[in-house]
Amino acid sequence: MSEINLKSKEYIQSSNADLSSSAQKNSDTVIEFKNVSKTYQQCIRAVDSASFKISVGEFISLVGPSGAGKSTLIRLLTAAEKPTSGQIYVASRDITQLKKQELPFYHRKVGVIFQDFKLLPRKTVYENIAFALEVADIANKEITERVPKIIEIVGLTSRINAMTEELSGGEKQRVSIARALVHNPKLLIADEPTGNLDPVSTWEIIELLFKINKQGTIVILATHDKEVVDTLERRVISMRDGKIISDQEKGKYVL
Ligand code: ADP
Repeated sequence: MSEINLKSKEYIQSSNADLSSSAQKNSDTVIEFKNVSKTYQQCIRAVDSASFKISVGEFISLVGPSGAGKSTLIRLLTAAEKPTSGQIYVASRDITQLKKQELPFYHRKVGVIFQDFKLLPRKTVYENIAFALEVADIANKEITERVPKIIEIVGLTSRINAMTEELSGGEKQRVSIARALVHNPKLLIADEPTGNLDPVSTWEIIELLFKINKQGTIVILATHDKEVVDTLERRVISMRDGKIISDQEKGKYVL
């Protein structure tokens, strides 16, 4: 294992010592799924009677084989889709009842990153992040102040004017994390964020997600990476056939 790889792992494991306190003592429920199901084509139960609560400060791994329902669960939580039945409370509000005009405001409070980054091509790092603020009608002056600060948080200051095509996979994922953070979300959902990355970049991204979590953002990490999940020693929610088959406080990757 490389030195960087080891350093990131050590950082994560040493962080766990002090974090076990803040996350577990704080019982404020921020997210609650109440008997949530999503059925496609009347017979595919992509999510089947899911119930769980998530509190301030938690870092959760969401695991399960392909087709288990992880992406559907994430789309329900981001309000990209509505469940067939059940309620999803986020900060005491049932998001399944959000009106169309309320959705953009909800989306700002939930950052999402993906395996394939979904960056704007032919634009620089700066422009990719500024764009997320422009579409939210943030004033130019504020954009020019905020973007460099966010880029610094993800460690990309030296690449601020690079075109996204020139970046490594790990750097691209940093840009997408920066973009997800522009509105200071209370929740960051990472859907297989390291699926396209080499082991060194994987640990750097996990370390960054850990740092963001330490600043108070809930992180939900959907992943197939057993080594990552087992190293994190955090809560693990496991799904299979749409059902939550286990939910463990200091879980391991078990399928
Ligand atoms: P995972 O992310 O764990 O791989 P998914 O949530 O993508 O699982 O899929 C769960 C199940 O729901 C699968 O059987 C999948 O084929 C089905 N599914 C997901 N999205 C749709 C859709 N838009 N239309 C029909 N079936 C879907």
